[in-house]
Amino acid sequence: MKITFLGTGTSQGIPVIGSTHPVCLSDDIKDKRLRVSVLVEWDNYSYVVDCGPDFRQQMLNANCKKIDGILFTHEHADHTAGLDDIRPFFYRQGNIPIYAKKRVLKSLKRRFGYIFTEKNKYPGAPSVKQNKINNKSFTLGNIDIIPIKGFHNQLSVYGFKFNDFAYLTDMKTVVDNEIEKIKGVKVLVINALRHEPHESHFNLKEALEFVNKVNPETTYLTHISHLLGFHKEVQSTLPRNVFLAYDNLQITI
Ligand SMILES: [Zn+2]
Repeated sequence: MKITFLGTGTSQGIPVIGSTHPVCLSDDIKDKRLRVSVLVEWDNYSYVVDCGPDFRQQMLNANCKKIDGILFTHEHADHTAGLDDIRPFFYRQGNIPIYAKKRVLKSLKRRFGYIFTEKNKYPGAPSVKQNKINNKSFTLGNIDIIPIKGFHNQLSVYGFKFNDFAYLTDMKTVVDNEIEKIKGVKVLVINALRHEPHESHFNLKEALEFVNKVNPETTYLTHISHLLGFHKEVQSTLPRNVFLAYDNLQITI
């Protein structure tokens, strides 16, 4: 299984438009972060988790020519706003399968009505094939995907476990039963926003406590704000086997 980190930034990305924060001005390529998303590939399958406003650039960066579907963690714009840019895939492949819980599908329908409508569809508008998921495993290609439920402030969000790879973002609380599903996984990805506490995201300390509970072989932190600091400096403070993810990082499991 090959994982490509398409984006590792928080909702505004890094640099933040107009910001003079030193991290936003950094020349280090690892301090430039598009909105959070990941490409998961195995055999001949390729799936994307979330489809934020940087989706087009991310598909170009990864030279991605085909996607078998998009899984949505939740409906916030930094995870969904790029949906229109599935057009090149739709033209070549037909309706693009999307996987999301009922509430998220409803939100997408409201915001991208022209994609979901079946009447008087505008020529050139893309279409999707909706797959409603709940907190039960479902099949993608030849593997079973296990949703991991957590809370982003009050909003329930899903992470996903693909065999030995668990991808969770925008978590603030995860109950023990859900943690149980990913204990001892080979690779964990989890959000770590900044040092200061935040009402809807793990800060670095909370993310590291979560890592201890899950006890994976290797962890990558994502959904990072410029306020966390320079990639190089923060990385040097992390425990063994915990790494800050960065855009275009690829790992194989
Ligand atoms: Zn987010």
